[in-house]
Amino acid sequence: MTTAILTIDTGAIARNWQSLDARTEVETGAVVKANGYGLGAPVVARVLARAGCRSFFVATAEEGATLRAALGHGPVIYVFSGHMDGDTGAIREGRLTPLLNSVDQMLRHVEALPGSPFGLQLNTGMNRLGMQASEWSALRDIAVAQRPALIMSHLACSDDPDHEMNARQLRQFQEMTDGIDAARSLAATGGLLLGEEYHFDLCRPGVGIYGGLPFEGAEAVVTLDAPVIQVRDVAQGAPVGYGNGWTAPHASRIATVSAGYADGLIRAMGSGGAQVYAGDVALPVVGRVSMDLITVDVTALGEDPAHLQLLGPHQSVDDLADAAGTIGYEILTALGHRYARRYTE
Ligand SMILES: *Cc1c(COP(=O)(O)O)cnc(C)c1O
Repeated sequence: MTTAILTIDTGAIARNWQSLDARTEVETGAVVKANGYGLGAPVVARVLARAGCRSFFVATAEEGATLRAALGHGPVIYVFSGHMDGDTGAIREGRLTPLLNSVDQMLRHVEALPGSPFGLQLNTGMNRLGMQASEWSALRDIAVAQRPALIMSHLACSDDPDHEMNARQLRQFQEMTDGIDAARSLAATGGLLLGEEYHFDLCRPGVGIYGGLPFEGAEAVVTLDAPVIQVRDVAQGAPVGYGNGWTAPHASRIATVSAGYADGLIRAMGSGGAQVYAGDVALPVVGRVSMDLITVDVTALGEDPAHLQLLGPHQSVDDLADAAGTIGYEILTALGHRYARRYTE
């Protein structure tokens, strides 16, 4: 079989969520946008619901509709993009809770679905989503009278605990929401780890659940094993791969592995010193990453490997991300759809 196998440890997903939950005195939700950070939102969300999670967050109403079908009635499903033109049907049928980002969205929502639940997203300085302070002060009393399910904002720099932006956004959020009788949320994974004052009524971690930084204590969730298609000897001075991207410094044995950038192996990792593993032995990726293939120097092994491990106990998504000059989030969400997925407990 030439398909690489992505193994997703659902037990580790549940334990990561529980251990984040244990760090707060408030409710812990879960962000499952982008198909559960690439790992499969329906499976991830059902695992988390079983672990006790009652509030889920997605990016779009379409994602919310898929999630509702997977979760059934109980849990609350919040939508970060709010109520966009064309979303009304999905919001009504999925019983989704849009996080309204502007006066326009607020008007659209109360007009299209009067009395149906909503939350509010405020801009506290990230300048990406949410109502401006000026907009909010005009709308605040009217919006609060409609009993929002949640008032939230998002931190721009919470992966860096020492960044002054954290305290600045915290103050801004307090100024905009103190005294309001509604549940509040400010923290994603990074904010949850910053401490109690960032927790408010609900934390909404994403990446930490999936085993990524900034949650240092996370358990690894994904393992990626790819089959070796061919192994060959190359002479000293012989090139390997597109553009003669690598030249053998001495006689070498090269394995060609069935996984490439079309499977989410970021092309930049070819020049970033990425490694793969045969058991405990680290082996360098050499030459450029192709669409469907990578080449690995396996000279150090006594015998030819049948498959090699790209992600697992020896190499986290963040390690691989470092080699590719990116972040664990991008590695996770890029993991291709060509892999055979196996879910284990
Ligand atoms: C993606 C996202 C989260 C989750 O962030 P993580 O860093 O993955 O924990 C939380 N809130 C908002 C608004 C987001 O966009």
